[in-house]
Amino acid sequence: MAKRDYVDMGANTRLAHAGNDPRDFFGFVNPPVVHASTVLYPDAATMASRGQRYSYGTRGTPTTDALAAAIDALEGSAGTIVVPSGLAAVTIPLLAFLSAGDHVLITDSVYHPTRSFADTMLGRLGVEVDYYDPMVGAGIGALMKPNTKVVFTESPGSNTFEMQDIPAIAAEAKKRGAIVMMDNTWATPLFFRPLDHGVDISIHAATKYPAGHSDVLAGTVSASEACWPRLRETFFTLGCCSGPDDVYQVLRGLRTMGVRLERHQRSALEIARWLETQKGVARVLHPGLESHPGHALWKRDFSGSSGVFSIVLDGGGQARAHAFLDALAIFGLGYSWGGFESLAVPVNISDRIIARGPYEGPVLRLQIGLEDVQDLKTDLARGLAAAAGV
Ligand SMILES: *Cc1c(COP(=O)(O)O)cnc(C)c1O
Repeated sequence: MAKRDYVDMGANTRLAHAGNDPRDFFGFVNPPVVHASTVLYPDAATMASRGQRYSYGTRGTPTTDALAAAIDALEGSAGTIVVPSGLAAVTIPLLAFLSAGDHVLITDSVYHPTRSFADTMLGRLGVEVDYYDPMVGAGIGALMKPNTKVVFTESPGSNTFEMQDIPAIAAEAKKRGAIVMMDNTWATPLFFRPLDHGVDISIHAATKYPAGHSDVLAGTVSASEACWPRLRETFFTLGCCSGPDDVYQVLRGLRTMGVRLERHQRSALEIARWLETQKGVARVLHPGLESHPGHALWKRDFSGSSGVFSIVLDGGGQARAHAFLDALAIFGLGYSWGGFESLAVPVNISDRIIARGPYEGPVLRLQIGLEDVQDLKTDLARGLAAAAGV
């Protein structure tokens, strides 16, 4: 059976098999890690006619092709580029589709470094940037201008987890000739496939669940048929390719992403529900909870939830947040998420213009790892007890 046949199979079958065909390399199950700059040609005529599949290390290798093909099989995309970080996966498509004099609309609860890029570099390049309410839905149409070229979405939003009505936003953007990009890192292509909902460019920090072990930085950008040539051209122009060992580690991580996510999902939901009943917690911001304002949208469009959500403490300030965080023994205090281990960070929303609450007290983001749920609850109870004393 040819590998392309996996495209129509279940997500876990695709995770296990998509990407490389073992018969291409003597039957070895995994693809080779090709360390390459130079690729040799057999003769001058082949060189002149560009009649060879691989030409130079920056333009792809069997290793990067394997990961890109696996992501395409998951996203339903026409092509995928693999870049050195999740942040590069955000900045490269924005550079590909925006020019001086264009206008971009960005959701207000966007990943903070995306906002920094827009406010500094896009501004300097003469691109007009506006932020919109993540809950705007079809109202995005009223915010669009004749020069709006890109609507940038992220759902749920970073740290505060607002759900966006992606199909409604995509329909309005399409009507007005803009393309839609989505940072889909939270859901992974297992729980949401942006291109099926009208999005043109799907972005992932592969650093998170795809790599899964807090030891690799990588990003992927997947495009529709119409957007693929321009994305690929920009990728080649910028020379922003990922190293072979990192690419390989992401493909390796993908093979187990389904089972890991199943566990992250179950543990996170159980802990989120439990936290809703705990004294000292005003709210739990997790779209899989019935209490979440975006729950209906999540249920309509997404097929699952991952392991990251936030809690809002019932009053207090930074001292209370610090008491909670410092009392944790299993949860590490550190940025990023998607690895095997639990993490906690204080959330700062001072960059927001629209999506800024009000919140009853400090907001804390939790990444629920693969540890035993009972141990994590005990740890969080320790944090809440410490917070109650402040
Ligand atoms: C982490 C993250 C990124 C950036 O990924 P890095 O690999 O850390 O650069 C982008 N978008 C979202 C939503 C993220 O959570």
